[in-house]
Amino acid sequence: TDDILRVEGLSTRFFTEQGQVNAVSDLDLRIERGEIVGIVGESGSGKSVTARSIVDLIESPGRITDGEIWFDEPDLAEAVRDDHPDAVDGDYVNLRAVPERVRDSLRGSAFSMIFQDPESSFNPSLTVGEQLAEAVEVQRRASANPRSTRARTNSEAYSMSNFLLSTVLPSQRYVSESSRERAVELLELVGIPDPIERADEYPHEYSGGMLQRAMIAQALAGEPDVLIADEPTTALDVTIQAQILDLLDDLQAETGMTILLITHNLGVVARMCDRVGVMYAGEIVERGHLTDVFDDHVHPYTEGLLGSIPDLEGVGGRLEPIPGNVPSLLDHEMADRCHFADRCPKAMDECLEHPPEYDAAGSEEHAARCVLTEMAYDESRALPADYFGETT
Ligand code: SF4
Ligand code: MG
Repeated sequence: TDDILRVEGLSTRFFTEQGQVNAVSDLDLRIERGEIVGIVGESGSGKSVTARSIVDLIESPGRITDGEIWFDEPDLAEAVRDDHPDAVDGDYVNLRAVPERVRDSLRGSAFSMIFQDPESSFNPSLTVGEQLAEAVEVQRRASANPRSTRARTNSEAYSMSNFLLSTVLPSQRYVSESSRERAVELLELVGIPDPIERADEYPHEYSGGMLQRAMIAQALAGEPDVLIADEPTTALDVTIQAQILDLLDDLQAETGMTILLITHNLGVVARMCDRVGVMYAGEIVERGHLTDVFDDHVHPYTEGLLGSIPDLEGVGGRLEPIPGNVPSLLDHEMADRCHFADRCPKAMDECLEHPPEYDAAGSEEHAARCVLTEMAYDESRALPADYFGETT
């Protein structure tokens, strides 16, 4: 397989006054070049923290405490091999093992990120065109001198700091004519009508859907290999959502870029993704190809998300929210057992004794973190008589 990104054993913690919050625990994720991979889960499941961890946007009191993030970037591997031999494996670079300036140099060109809330990516006092041109300019300078630390653009500083104005760097006033032209091209690429005129408008003059397109344009300024989209359509009405998803799909097909799509919406996953990871309480509890997860899911949480948990009393098939609450992710409150046990209609004594391992569910790609998967697919384990009636 041609993996562009491999996340191994990622853990991200937040050190709060209430204690240590285990937002992401021991997470593995593999993304092939040119794929659209989804991470789906309820809010608070750790999917945004996962995305931000990959692009190194975790801020205090949060910190990545464990794991490796391997990125297929042969030029970078070559450049850092001598100074950081442990950070290189063939063409792959472990982004956790290189200095921050190296990670910074990848932002925008190797990875880009778009968010739910486009306002946070734009400075209200500069025109959209100026900000896109600036993003293009910064990426061009960075690629002319890839090992240098590049400055953050105004708009990046915005999105990273959520309007912490103190961190906004003085604007880099020199922007070349060709960067301005490229800004207009980017607006056109993302389907903004009259891009020459719209480039001279300020963010508040754009509608929500248009600003979302402009944010995508900004993310594309450095021609990233991987675009990470965190709930990119959640704030938009349904028609506009569909248009933005179509745009991402088209851009993926045109540019061959890889997309990691973070969403709470299974419909979005079904429409867009090749493979998907279902996230719950900081863990990917089931992963596989779309059909594995939608048609052949084995984890009770996935069943619940899909609204098809058969009622054990025999009512069956009713569409209702999964009862119960997401468990505390505070380390001192976290029980050493399946995180889903309190809400799981299939929980049994063993689920309370230790956290379930990650087990292959019939195919290499399809796996789940559930005692029942181990029982169903591990021949040394017995399967309960009432489980997986339809599975051979
Ligand atoms: Fe349910 Fe047990 Fe599986 Fe957890 S391990 S999801 S409690 S059956
Ligand atoms: Mg989120």
